[in-house]
Amino acid sequence: MGYGSRTEMARMAKAGGIMLDGVDLTDVTKRIPITPDLPSRMEIDGAPLDPVPGLVILLNKPLGMTCSHKEDGALVYDVLPERWMRRDPAISTIGRLDKQTSGLLLLTDDGDLLHRVISPKRHVKKVYRATLARPLNGTEGDLFASGQLMLEGEDKPLSPAELEVVSPTEALLSVTEGRYHQVRRMFAATGNHVEALHRERLGGLTLPDDLAPGEWKLLNADEIASIF
Ligand code: URA
Repeated sequence: MGYGSRTEMARMAKAGGIMLDGVDLTDVTKRIPITPDLPSRMEIDGAPLDPVPGLVILLNKPLGMTCSHKEDGALVYDVLPERWMRRDPAISTIGRLDKQTSGLLLLTDDGDLLHRVISPKRHVKKVYRATLARPLNGTEGDLFASGQLMLEGEDKPLSPAELEVVSPTEALLSVTEGRYHQVRRMFAATGNHVEALHRERLGGLTLPDDLAPGEWKLLNADEIASIF
């Protein structure tokens, strides 16, 4: 979980830095099952143990951060405790949002869950609020719903998507796929340009109003189930 090597942890335990059920854990040969309640039973250096593997994080992604482990500049992973980047299994984003897209982003260390969420077969709905450079021309809704829109450079049309007009230059768009720059390219195909893009919903999850950009929370089992 990124705290240290086995040797370092054994040393820490022997020095009294690890508590289990309120008792110093000095017997480093003891095998402790990893259960979701372990953070409520174990303390490391006086703080509750980090969440055990199988975590799902909901982040309100700020503008300007990249969903990548490798690139230079600000990364979405920078908002998490530094130790969490040394966890095995590693934490990754579930799909990606562009650097200049904000809003609901999930991260997990559960590879099966990740694949289930991004699989086009699951049709998990993603809702984006798009602010446009030019007024909508009125044909976008039918075009997006048609299942016939072909994006430049692709050979398969997009699945039907739903458009809800909020104002002449603002709309909510629900899509079930996650193609590269999909929403921006969909509006570009209508001769428009997306000036701002924000993801508000994913499956049954909605970005909470009280979660400021850069803030995140762990999802509980019911919230995770509501994705599908
Ligand atoms: N579509 C885009 O164009 N960008 C995103 O970040 C997400 C969907």
